[in-house]
Amino acid sequence: MALPFSHRSDSFMTDFQAVRRQLCKLVNAEQVEILMGSGTLASDAIAGQLALLCQPGLVLVSGEFGRRLIENANGAKLFFHILEIPEGQAFQPADLEQELKAHPDIAWIWGTHCETSTGVLNDLEMYKAVCDGRGVKLCMDCISSIGTVPVDLAGVYLASGTSGKGLGAASGLAMVFHNHDFEPAPDDLPCCLDLGRYQAAQGIPFTVQPSLVHGLQTALQAHDWNERFEDVRDWSKSIRRKLAEIDAPILAPDSCAMPAVVTIALPALHSSEAIGDTLKDHGVHISYRNNYLLERNWIQASMMGPEHHRPAEKFVRLLKKELAR
Ligand SMILES: *Cc1c(COP(=O)(O)O)cnc(C)c1O
Repeated sequence: MALPFSHRSDSFMTDFQAVRRQLCKLVNAEQVEILMGSGTLASDAIAGQLALLCQPGLVLVSGEFGRRLIENANGAKLFFHILEIPEGQAFQPADLEQELKAHPDIAWIWGTHCETSTGVLNDLEMYKAVCDGRGVKLCMDCISSIGTVPVDLAGVYLASGTSGKGLGAASGLAMVFHNHDFEPAPDDLPCCLDLGRYQAAQGIPFTVQPSLVHGLQTALQAHDWNERFEDVRDWSKSIRRKLAEIDAPILAPDSCAMPAVVTIALPALHSSEAIGDTLKDHGVHISYRNNYLLERNWIQASMMGPEHHRPAEKFVRLLKKELAR
């Protein structure tokens, strides 16, 4: 059996810094801090940095993961406004401009890039343009967009990512990308959320699990990422066309569809849970067990996660049969 790596060894340090550089290159960010934990932990760390600003902000909500950001923000006792739009839609520049005009005190905006629950991709360049013009700091939850669509974080204040989801490695590492330096804030933040401590310690202030970092390194090297983005786009086009042919009610319109996930809002006469179970019995894996999916009677086909299931013909054929019942 191979001996476990020490997270303090020179060779691990070299790999760790290489992973940080590769991550930054993938999303065009200057720096990244890597934390042991889930994507939601990265959001808590972002909330901690926003708390240090002591300025009010705006949280954008258009689904489950936007609502999660409210919880992250409340956990850090932030003061913020909420802008909510119907699920299945993307934010429009006028939505943001109106809100910023009504509340000129807003110093930061925080929302999801891909709202994974609804399968909607928001327009990052539009967000940047709106924020840039007004000196507002933009924070983005990119947990499901990194690794599935091209992401350019130049000019973004803080953005979260994770080793699972789009990057396709084992879950367990959370990331916060940044383009400015952090100061440690020992009096104001919990140790593990204090990104300034991470930066000050070359990224490793506390124990990190080397196997997770090496798994991420392997995943980062496994693809030509531009090919992967094209692959995801092709899958999206083809699955959405096939679903349209059987009149499956796709939630997000083509104009704002996130390519790695398609959410289907089943009519009430069908049970998402029963259909998900049936498909699973036939070896087709889709998402349907999360509470927010069960509550809404939604199912999702996805090209994310370590298995890259990419449901296709068989999924659509079985779904058609179920919808005809
Ligand atoms: C999955 C997801 C999260 C939560 O990530 P966890 O690793 O489950 O904590 C947050 N935001 C988005 C957009 C996600 O897709």
